[in-house]
Amino acid sequence: MSRIVVDADRCVGHGRCYTLAPDVFDADDVGHCVVLTEEVSDESELQAKIGEQNCPEQAISLTH
Ligand code: SF4
Repeated sequence: MSRIVVDADRCVGHGRCYTLAPDVFDADDVGHCVVLTEEVSDESELQAKIGEQNCPEQAISLTH
C-alpha cells in the first residue's frame, strides 16, 4: 500500500490529477487538489500513479 502526499504550495490547480484519477483526487472550491485517501489501496494504485506522473508541478508524491 502506498501513501500519497500533495504539496499544497506547488499545486496551482491544473486539475489533471482529479480529471485523470477521480478515485484518488478531488478539487477544492478553487480547483486545487484534495487527496481523497492518503493510503492508496491496491485497486487505486494505478490512478495514484497516473496522477503523480501527470501533475505539471510535480506536486504529487507517492511513497511505498
Ligand atoms: S495536477 Fe498537480 S497542480 Fe494540478 S491540481 Fe493536481 S496536484 Fe494540483
